[in-house]
Amino acid sequence: MKDMAAILEILEKSYPNAKCSLDFTDPLELLVATVLSAQCTDERVNRVSKDLFKKYRSAQDYASAPLQELEEDIRPTGFFRNKAKSLKSCGISLMERFHGQVPRTLDELVTLPGIGRKTANVILGTAFDTPGIVVDTHVGRVVQRLGLTRHQDPVKIEFDLMELIPRERWTRFSHELIWHGRQICTARNPKCPQCPLLEHCDYGREALGTRGGGDPVARRAKSAAKHQLAGLRRKGGGR
Ligand code: SF4
Repeated sequence: MKDMAAILEILEKSYPNAKCSLDFTDPLELLVATVLSAQCTDERVNRVSKDLFKKYRSAQDYASAPLQELEEDIRPTGFFRNKAKSLKSCGISLMERFHGQVPRTLDELVTLPGIGRKTANVILGTAFDTPGIVVDTHVGRVVQRLGLTRHQDPVKIEFDLMELIPRERWTRFSHELIWHGRQICTARNPKCPQCPLLEHCDYGREALGTRGGGDPVARRAKSAAKHQLAGLRRKGGGR
């Protein structure tokens, strides 16, 4: 059984400023930026969206944009043909069914072309202050390593996390884990020895050989001392 209160406290202290790193000024801009962020860094999306948002100011602008022109406008974000198609279709749907406004519920958001639960939860939590758990690649990887879920499927992971985490912490928890996944718990070579969550992490303790009773920090110190002693012995400085 995980000590969720302790995990949440550590995350809060470690990432006091965690928030969405996409630039936006309204729900439509956030929706567009989130679509563009698939397989692309937030930094690059922000560079592209700076000019894009000056040119496309409403759902109607995306709906009536010539597809090829829209493709060129978002080309640097990669997968630009699919993304342009999604944005144009999204603009049309918003005009036809939501009076040009981004809807405020998960059920409505996921009916928009190219908008899955992940994007919908980003919009809900960040633009509308409605709690939502975002399971992107970072969140999925970190919670699996922490042992908070056994699932691979993002929707099943989302439901596991909804059970474990108080609703008012859903959005913040997502941002904290995204930051943690980018900075410490990276896909390759996670920095377990310096991770503030090590004590609560199955993967990290396994990787460092500190699992199975006792204080992992003390065990790590003991192991480091053992290695140091072995080094001294090899150099002839010990017995
Ligand atoms: S201990 Fe390692 S695997 Fe676990 S959360 Fe920290 S960095 Fe990730």
